[in-house]
Amino acid sequence: MKKNPTGYLLYEGPSAMDTSVPIAVIANCITNKSDNGKTGDMAQSFIIRTDMKPNEAVKSKQDHCVCGGCPYAGNNGCYVSIKMVCSVYAAYKRGSYKRVTPQELAPILVESVNTKRIAGLRCGSYGDPAAAPFEVWEPLVSAVREVGGKTSGYTHQWTDRYAYMGRTADPRFRQILMASSHNSVDAVLANADGWRAFTVFDALDDLQRSGMAMCPASKEAGFRRTCGTCGGQSA
Ligand code: SF4
Repeated sequence: MKKNPTGYLLYEGPSAMDTSVPIAVIANCITNKSDNGKTGDMAQSFIIRTDMKPNEAVKSKQDHCVCGGCPYAGNNGCYVSIKMVCSVYAAYKRGSYKRVTPQELAPILVESVNTKRIAGLRCGSYGDPAAAPFEVWEPLVSAVREVGGKTSGYTHQWTDRYAYMGRTADPRFRQILMASSHNSVDAVLANADGWRAFTVFDALDDLQRSGMAMCPASKEAGFRRTCGTCGGQSA
């Protein structure tokens, strides 16, 4: 029996945040389950530097080209398991991932959604999706949404307040990502600029004062749902 690839290589090229740095986009967990408890059975995707191990990039604060202006970058509290990202990097270096175009991967994702192996696609399980071209993500997100699958993805590059070196994202990302925001003012500004916002509050009081709803997949909400089962409008 023909074995499914362990993952797919979707993009190799310069980072939009720093064109001097080569990056790659890898998608996996498409025909098998992910271990990401929050996102549930969502296909995962990783934006990685190709010239340096992820843990070295984080430690030496050279992860800006994949994480942009995220305040958790540079070894500053990122919740993503860097060990898992290093495994993806090692598999990429071994040539384990099948090279495909987004148009070739889209029907594979659709098949997995239709057969209920996955609930959808997480854009940027590690890294900020806006580091790669919009054209890498749009065909995937559109195809998954068209068959009723969920997609999620967040960027700090929506405003020059957070964007690395003020290099804000391609405006078309508004269609497929949510703006990462850190307070209710951010959320209002993002909304006014045409983004839907995903806001991380420092304290529960701030959230309650804002009148906004808590993400049901968050730890604070008791992991009541996963992104894949959320009935709300995911990004
Ligand atoms: S962009 Fe994502 S992976 Fe990168 S530091 Fe921020 S939270 Fe972590």
